Amino acid sequence: AKAAGRNNFAWFAEPMLDESNERASMASALRVAMRSDELAVAYQPQIDLVTGDVVGFEALARWYSPVHGPVRPDRFIPVAEDSGMIVELGRWVLEHACHDVAEMQRTLGRKLRLAVNASPRQFHSAGWVDTVVSALERSGLSPEQLELEITEGILMDDRWNVIEVLSALRELGVSIAVDDFGQGYSSLAYLTRFPIDKLKIDRAFVQEIRSEDGDAPIVDAIIGMAHALGMEVVAEGVETPYQEHYLRARGCDQVQGFLYSAALPAVEAAVAASRAQPV
Ligand code: C2E
Ligand code: CA
Ligand code: CA
Ligand code: CA
Repeated sequence: AKAAGRNNFAWFAEPMLDESNERASMASALRVAMRSDELAVAYQPQIDLVTGDVVGFEALARWYSPVHGPVRPDRFIPVAEDSGMIVELGRWVLEHACHDVAEMQRTLGRKLRLAVNASPRQFHSAGWVDTVVSALERSGLSPEQLELEITEGILMDDRWNVIEVLSALRELGVSIAVDDFGQGYSSLAYLTRFPIDKLKIDRAFVQEIRSEDGDAPIVDAIIGMAHALGMEVVAEGVETPYQEHYLRARGCDQVQGFLYSAALPAVEAAVAASRAQPV
């Protein structure tokens, strides 16, 4: 709907007339895109709420199709996931992001953290840990700087040796964040079963922080729980100064959102990180 003025292609139409046809057409276009330079990685700054510094970035995939214009990740990531292409795409994002952030560090002369999304299919693919090791080695980024964002679904799926993969990553020094925390699953038992370093409060809960006197009990609970379990907590989708104020007062560790910056190309992200933040 957003890009409807651009063209009439069905990828942007809402609701979709023929979902499966559309997905098939998108999957083949994505296959071409991966080979022809249409993909990019954008970096959204993550800010420490105490110091106000940009401490790192979340890497987010971008697709600029010469035919269809920009395609939103909400649309193409699920297609990549279903078709299995996410394994290759995810490897590309990881390698690209490690390389870019290593370069940003050299420019800025300080260490930065890099958060990369790992989808269920990627996470469970053969050789995934080796992919991570090789991306780190090739870029020179140290494992301590890499954080993988996984979804609750990965932890809930007991068909796989989730513990083994997470432990191998932890052993390397890579940290694990649970993305979109609070969405979809109600069992909290897994939080103590797995080696998890951080919870990312889902944007939907951050949006509940609305007015000067209003409460956001779920946000409070997630922050309290994360800290009680020895984890850090980052809030995503922070859009207003009051949300920032509220989160700082509750002891949230980091923030990320349009209040600070959207995801930017690497060069602009480095510039954003070099400026003092108005916290
Ligand atoms: P996510 O991992 O939850 O990423 C955060 C999304 O929220 C990003 O959307 C980001 O641009 C957006 N966002 C950030 N701050 C704000 C804000 O203040 N307000 C609002 N309204 N939105 C904000 P984006 O880039 O469109 O990505 C959407 C989703 O696509 C991601 O959600 C993630 O699930 C998936 N995705 C993107 N890149 C990758 C990737 O490389 N690999 C995998 N597996 N998934 C990816
Ligand atoms: Ca994420
Ligand atoms: Ca998220
Ligand atoms: Ca999300």
